[in-house]
Amino acid sequence: MQTQPLRQAGVSQQVAHLVTCAENDLMRDVFPRRDAIAEVCQYRIIRAFQQLGIAPRHFSPTTGYGYSDEGREALDRVFAGALGCDAALVRPQFLSGTHTLAVCLFAALRPGDLLVCATGTPYDTLLPVLGLAGDREDSLRAWGVECRVLPLREGCIPVEALQELLAAQPEGRRILVSFQRSRGYSLRPSLTVRQLNEAIDAVYAVRPDAKTLVDNCYGEFVEPTEPSGADMLAGSLIKNPGGGLAPTGGYVAGRADMIEKVSHRLSAPGLGGEVGSYAAGYLPFFQGLFLAPAVVASACKGAALCAKVFDAMGYAALPAFDAPRADIIQSITLRTPRAVQAFCKGVQQAAAVDSMATPLPWDMPGYDDPVIMAAGTFIQGGSVELSADAPMREPYAVFFQGGLTYAHAKLGVAKAAQEVLALAP
Ligand SMILES: *Cc1c(COP(=O)(O)O)cnc(C)c1O
Repeated sequence: MQTQPLRQAGVSQQVAHLVTCAENDLMRDVFPRRDAIAEVCQYRIIRAFQQLGIAPRHFSPTTGYGYSDEGREALDRVFAGALGCDAALVRPQFLSGTHTLAVCLFAALRPGDLLVCATGTPYDTLLPVLGLAGDREDSLRAWGVECRVLPLREGCIPVEALQELLAAQPEGRRILVSFQRSRGYSLRPSLTVRQLNEAIDAVYAVRPDAKTLVDNCYGEFVEPTEPSGADMLAGSLIKNPGGGLAPTGGYVAGRADMIEKVSHRLSAPGLGGEVGSYAAGYLPFFQGLFLAPAVVASACKGAALCAKVFDAMGYAALPAFDAPRADIIQSITLRTPRAVQAFCKGVQQAAAVDSMATPLPWDMPGYDDPVIMAAGTFIQGGSVELSADAPMREPYAVFFQGGLTYAHAKLGVAKAAQEVLALAP
């Protein structure tokens, strides 16, 4: 067994042995499955590039209004192809995933409309947007949009309850049903593409006029295909689809008519998607998308290794190391605040950037509890890069994700395990 490289990176013999044993086991089945999925996604992306005739001129910057910005237009189309959608809006002017999702919601909804969150309470930073946290005058709820949250049933989308709710709405009422693919900071399972597709079909079966939105954050390229049939899929470019290279931004992909509406909400009514320049150029967005399937595969392998190692140490891992994966997130329930801090310290020690930092909990905007984050990333907050976060609350679960290379993720797992094992019992 090859424990030498980890030993040279400062990992103890005991932990190097533990990690290498886990890795050997994963190489039989779990890792080859990952490579097979990455291959399918990679070829779909290459096909999209080829069909659009992507060439170096598409990487060039524009300034000012950015009228006839070929790079911006080609990037939209290449993302649409990569995600299996008709159209897309891919913009560095989307500030984050939350901003992207908020723009989608405000584009699709008007006062009196109904928003149904069909996968339980949404991700923390969306709560103020919806009006489910705080007392904001600018939330969807304050604007007059009714917001209903349907909790998951035994980890599954409550399709029957959803259909009942939709069927009970007056005809002609505008409805948006939103689904969140990834679990975010919660201990529910993530949803598979198949589960999402079935639920989207179930919506249209009852209300063909309803609109659908999938928060696709952390899910891109984890499965061979993306959710299909939704009006909008939205996500962040500093997560999976940016491949670690996109410096900022978000995307929405889906049906052309909804993407058009979103474009007018992002810019201004009447302007749409035909304005917008980016003086730094589009190269990292194209190149990041190209690399994304391989980066996501590295991240998923690191997540499986993390699950296997901490499972062997007696901690609950979700998903299990060999379970089908629907996103790049791995949670480990560490049970104490000390263990959470030790885990994050270990991940930080493995970083190429900011390795000297010691992560501490802090009050992060948009989150209710203090959050601790280990992130030695090239892109600030880039969570497709190796990172670990935890809200400091029961049951003290840490969320581990990312890894631009598998070897880096492996070192992160080893250092985290070493720090946790070093705690006095
Ligand atoms: C990360 C994330 C968001 C928000 O994205 P930010 O870029 O952090 O604003 C929304 N939903 C889910 C499921 C996420 O994982």
